[in-house]
Amino acid sequence: MEKFAVAIDGPNGAGKSSVARALAAKLGCVYVDTGALYRAIGLHVERCGADPDSAEQVAEILHDAKVELRYAEEGQRVYLNGEDVSGLIRTPKASIYASKVSKIPEVRAALLGIQRDMATHQSVVMDGRDIGTVVLPSAEVKIFLTASPEVRAKRRYLELIEKGENTTLEEVLNDLIWRDKNDSEREIAPLRPAEDSVLVDTSELDFEQSVAAVEKVVSERTGR
Ligand code: C5P
Repeated sequence: MEKFAVAIDGPNGAGKSSVARALAAKLGCVYVDTGALYRAIGLHVERCGADPDSAEQVAEILHDAKVELRYAEEGQRVYLNGEDVSGLIRTPKASIYASKVSKIPEVRAALLGIQRDMATHQSVVMDGRDIGTVVLPSAEVKIFLTASPEVRAKRRYLELIEKGENTTLEEVLNDLIWRDKNDSEREIAPLRPAEDSVLVDTSELDFEQSVAAVEKVVSERTGR
C-alpha cells in the first residue's frame, strides 16, 4: 500500500488525540502525538529552573534535551534524555509550559525534524497545531478538528477529574482560553486551518461520531 499522511490540527480539547489514535488504528498506521514533544521540552525547562517565557534561557538549555518518540505495545511513549516521561507531561502545569515554549523559534526548529522523520518511511496520522501548515504541508488529508470552548473545557475537565487531578471547570476553561489565544497569536507556526483542510466540528458529536466524521473525510479524499 502506498504511504500516506493524515494531518489533524485544532485547538486544545477538540478530541484530536483520541480521534487520531482511533483513526490510525482503523487505517493500520502509526499515530504521532506531536504535543508530547513540546510537553517534554516544557518539562526539561521546568526541571532546569529556566523561565519558559525567556527565549534566551530556553535556547541555552535546549541542546541538553534529547527528546525521542518510541513505540511500545500501548502506543507512543516520549523520552527525555533516556527517561520515559509520558505520564509526567500530562499535568495542567506541563500544558502551560508546553504552550509557552512552543512560541520559541529554536524549540520549533529542533522538533521539526523529529516530526518529519516519523512520516518519511511510514504512513502516519499526526496531530498537533501546525501539521497541515508547516510540518507535513503535502499530507494527503488535512483535518481541522474543533469544538466550542465550553464543550472542550467540559471534556478536558472530566478527563482530569478521572485522573484524580484537583481542578474546577472554570479553571480548565480559563486555561483553555489562554492556551487557544497563545497558540493562535504566536508569530511562528500559529494555530490555523491549512487552506486545503476540511473543518470537522465535534461540538455536537460524541466520540464514535467524531471518528466516523474523520473516517469519512479520509475515505472521500483517498478512497481508503
Ligand atoms: O496537543 P497538546 O495539548 O499536548 O500540546 C501541548 C502544547 O504544545 C499546545 O498547547 C501547543 O502550544 C504546543 N504544540 C504546538 N505545535 C504542535 C503540537 C503542540 O505548538 N504541533
